[in-house]
Amino acid sequence: MWVLTPAAFAGKLLSVFRQPLSSLWRSLVLLFCWLRATWLLASKRTKQQLVWREPDETKEEEEDPPLSTTPTSVNYHFTRQCNYKCGFCFHTAKTSFVLPLEEAKRGLLLLKEAGMEKINFSGGEPFLHDRGEYLGKLVKFCKTELQLPSVSIVSNGSLIRERWFQNYGEYLDILAVSCDSFDEEVNVLIGRGQGKKNHVENLQKLRTWCRDYRVAFKINSVINRFNVEEDMTEQIKALNPVRWKVFQCLLVEGENCGEDALREAERFVIGDEEFERFLERHKEVSCLVPESNQKMKDSYLILDEYMRFLNCRKGRKDPSKSILDVGVEEAIKFSGFDEKMFLKRGGKYVWSKADLKLDW
Ligand code: SF4
Repeated sequence: MWVLTPAAFAGKLLSVFRQPLSSLWRSLVLLFCWLRATWLLASKRTKQQLVWREPDETKEEEEDPPLSTTPTSVNYHFTRQCNYKCGFCFHTAKTSFVLPLEEAKRGLLLLKEAGMEKINFSGGEPFLHDRGEYLGKLVKFCKTELQLPSVSIVSNGSLIRERWFQNYGEYLDILAVSCDSFDEEVNVLIGRGQGKKNHVENLQKLRTWCRDYRVAFKINSVINRFNVEEDMTEQIKALNPVRWKVFQCLLVEGENCGEDALREAERFVIGDEEFERFLERHKEVSCLVPESNQKMKDSYLILDEYMRFLNCRKGRKDPSKSILDVGVEEAIKFSGFDEKMFLKRGGKYVWSKADLKLDW
């Protein structure tokens, strides 16, 4: 049709001039109507082509269907009690409940059957309950009975005794100790301390025990208003951890901000740019693993003291039902876990000390 259009237009124009002058006006009106109808038809076709393309364009943006969630790596906060009072703590002492040992073991077995490969025990302070014996028994159970590739602990380090390493060190893959500053005054300001104990000196002692008892040593730091300008390069290099996990201070409603919270962490919070500057200052430290708020929020499977998954999607910790009551598959649906982000942040790494090939 578009090939014929110029010829049709010329014909129409000629016929106009063949008309007597009296009918010229009528012919011009007819010509105008014809031109308008042609233009409307053309624009309608163009619109149809655009509409037709849309499904293809949206197809490209479609999300992949969600993967079914496997609890590959689980963080079990079996106690909320702690001997420290860190101002930004986001798992606070809202209850003093701890499951009976046999119930905790039953839950861990359920997780193993659902695909768990790594368990991390955390708190509160996990060495506080029963002077670390409860924790030791769970660590041993997970390594010997469940044969998990990786068993780890996150602790503030202040209550660990050498005897614990003698009894349970062989069953533990990784010990992560929290340290936010190498300036003891800053640690006091943050609330990481108890009485006259020196957090930094203690860290050095733990490093030595980890070497002696063949436990991989890790450091966790929360970057906040009080340590954001610090340069920790030399001290971290000297301690030589397998990983230095660097978190951006996070607000969690009901834990460290909001009405029923036990902490007010607003004064500790730093911006993304400040966090980036801290990372830039420490770029030489090869074991540094950064974790911004964005990466951290939904990329951990967290179990609380009742073995309920905690869903952090809404900026607070909403509990599922307990895996002991409804099973792992049912409870995990409410975990809010972002498995893609877990993989993206490198959540799956070499986490068994047998595979770490460490030069102790
Ligand atoms: S040591 Fe950990 S659990 Fe204890 S108060 Fe500090 S942040 Fe919270």
